[in-house]
Amino acid sequence: MDKLKDKVAIVTGASKGIGAAIARQLAADGAKVVINYGSSKRGADNVVADIEAAGGSALAVGADVTQKAEVESLIRAAIENYGRLDIVVNNAGIYQFARIEDTTETLYRKQFDINVLGPMLVSAAAAPHLGAGASIINISSNVTRIHPAESAIYTGTKGAIDAITVVLSREFGPRGIRVNAVNPGLIETEGTHTAGVIGSDFQAWNEDQTPLGRIGQVSDIAPIVSYLASDEARWVTGEIILASGGMR
Ligand code: NAP
Repeated sequence: MDKLKDKVAIVTGASKGIGAAIARQLAADGAKVVINYGSSKRGADNVVADIEAAGGSALAVGADVTQKAEVESLIRAAIENYGRLDIVVNNAGIYQFARIEDTTETLYRKQFDINVLGPMLVSAAAAPHLGAGASIINISSNVTRIHPAESAIYTGTKGAIDAITVVLSREFGPRGIRVNAVNPGLIETEGTHTAGVIGSDFQAWNEDQTPLGRIGQVSDIAPIVSYLASDEARWVTGEIILASGGMR
């Protein structure tokens, strides 16, 4: 497959989970990929090794997406190593559910910093390097449609991302740059295992409410991102694409 041939991508939070699958897919479709990680260098190195073993090209770069200087060096790494930047996938994110009485300013700031400030810093730093045909893809969530109880902060962050996606599609549109969001339903990842979601009543409720009758896997999401990054999606921008087996 070479639909992303000659394109260079950055995927934030690509050391594991949905981000790692997206990075592998973009590389399989021909892109050179910068694998961003926060703390899991080993995870990022494994993704790079898998991509290289499959004949692709990738580079692991550590950067906390909440830190402007680190984000700028992440973007610089793509330009210095690969000479251009065409695809930005804002995937790094965290989720911590709590009843409103139990929410704290710390929980609020951490989730809004990583899930909202992060994509804004990355998009801003990438902006001067993106040209016509480039694409930003934000990984949001179907929580912005199903509004689960005890998720005020997390759902708030993803609601902000949906809105920011449409705003940025207007800002970048005149330059021929597209901005879209992909909103997964519950996906089995390292993160959802660690959070205790996999195997919980919440998983059973998701399966019950999902027309396709199961929760998602990372392989359900990655091809949608690759499509949006490709020229096949050249007329698609400002869209919030629900990828949840029909759960809405
Ligand atoms: P995950 O398995 O926990 O992986 C999260 C990734 O984000 C890791 O690579 C982590 O890097 C990175 N990250 C976290 N904080 C970071 C920071 N400050 N700077 C840079 N990277 C950071 O998560 P996931 O389940 O794959 O979720 C990925 C995205 O999909 C998130 O935006 C999430 O909200 C969204 N989503 C997930 C689901 C789901 O059910 N899994 C559903 C809808 C939407 P390190 O480990 O290297 O620190």
